[in-house]
Amino acid sequence: MSVASIGEIVWVICIIAWYVVRYPFERRAKRVRVTSSRRSATDTIGLAAALLGLAILPAIYVATGFPRFADYPASPWMIGLGALIFVGALWTFRRTHKELGRNWSISLEIREKHQLISKGPYALVRHPMYTSFLLMGIGQMFLLSNWVVGLAGVLGFAVLFFLRVDKEERLMLEFFGPEYRAYMDRTKRIIPYLY
Ligand code: SAH
Repeated sequence: MSVASIGEIVWVICIIAWYVVRYPFERRAKRVRVTSSRRSATDTIGLAAALLGLAILPAIYVATGFPRFADYPASPWMIGLGALIFVGALWTFRRTHKELGRNWSISLEIREKHQLISKGPYALVRHPMYTSFLLMGIGQMFLLSNWVVGLAGVLGFAVLFFLRVDKEERLMLEFFGPEYRAYMDRTKRIIPYLY
C-alpha cells in the first residue's frame, strides 16, 4: 500500500469519526426551540464553502483521484503529522460540543433558555469549534498529498469563519450584553493568546 493511500484512509476514518461525534448533539439540539434566528444567504454560502472544502472535494479526491495534476509525493512524516493534528481537531470538536450542549446551532441562532458558555475550551477562546475546523483543514492538508484538495479545507474554513464571526459576536453582544463584552475582553477568537 502506498504512503498516499494510507493518508487517504486515515482521512476517511477521521471524517467518519467527526460525524459520529456530531450526530448525537445534532439530534438533541433539534429538540430545543429556536427563539431568534440570524440564518442568512451569506451564512448558507459559508456553510456550503466549508462543506465543499472539508468534505466534498476531499471525498471526490479519495474516491476518484481528481484532480490528479495537483498531486505531489506523499511522505510518512506528513501523514503522521496530519493524523495527529486531525485527532487533535476531533478531540477539540467533541469537547466544544459537550460544553455548548443544547446551545449549539449549525447557523446563527439563539435557543430557548440560551446560556453563555465560557468554561472549558471556551475559557481559552470564544470560537473553539471553529478552531477545531481550522485544525481539520490543516490535518487534511498533511493527509492528502494534493495541492488543490490540501488547500481547499483551510480555504473553506476561512470563508465560513470570516463571513460569520462578526455577525456571531454581534448576536452574542445583543443577547448577553456586558457579560459577553467582559468575556470578549479576556479571550481571543480562535488561537489562544494570539487571535
Ligand atoms: N462559535 C462557537 C459556537 C459555534 S456553534 C465556537 O466556535 O465554538 C454556533 C452557535 O453557537 C451560534 O448560534 C451561537 O448562538 C452559539 N454560541 C456561540 N458562542 C457561544 C457561547 N460562548 N455560549 C453559548 N452559545 C454560543
